[in-house]
Amino acid sequence: MARYREAVCRLCRREGVKLFLKGQRCLTDKCAIEKRNFVPGQHGKARRPKAVGYGMQLREKQKVRRLYGILEKQFRGYFEKAEAKKGMTGENLLLLLERRLDNAVYRLGLGVSRAESRLLVRHGHILVSGRKVNIPSYQVSLGQEIAVRESSRKMASIQRALDLSGGRSVPPWLELDRENMKGRMVSQPKREDVSFDIQEQAIVELYSK
Ligand code: SF4
Repeated sequence: MARYREAVCRLCRREGVKLFLKGQRCLTDKCAIEKRNFVPGQHGKARRPKAVGYGMQLREKQKVRRLYGILEKQFRGYFEKAEAKKGMTGENLLLLLERRLDNAVYRLGLGVSRAESRLLVRHGHILVSGRKVNIPSYQVSLGQEIAVRESSRKMASIQRALDLSGGRSVPPWLELDRENMKGRMVSQPKREDVSFDIQEQAIVELYSK
């Protein structure tokens, strides 16, 4: 599958916000947003223009897409699914993204970033209700258990992620059993559980043109 291979900090700089794509580094003063908060490229130091209208809608969509690490075609697919569901399309979109398995692994603190969590899933280190699932986009369902495979529990990256995630709270729709490196989806995620500043209505307007 195609994926973004450039320096990820450029994505944050383009959007002008921390997207937390690099785990612990994002919390230090080495973060590129702390050091160089201007748009990458030759004219990047010019004042960042305030996006309005279409520009603002586009930036909002790119921000969410980059936050969850999703390519355009797949993101569009999520939007179509969200539109087909009952309720508010923008909210449905965010909740579908939240329920991705790689996001749930990240939110449980088993990976330091969504990218690392995705690799854990892809490489078969994660079980969903006892069965290996290596599809990062898998939608977690109510009651399902998400666990680190027995043979992967000693992995330094998972241990480190759990240590580092001590200060990052697990959202209410998930429950973590830190000792046994597993969690469970205990309720449906709600809009307020997505604490990142997102104006999802702008994405709906963009795709509705
Ligand atoms: Fe973004 Fe993290 Fe890089 Fe900072 S360190 S620019 S938050 S990816």
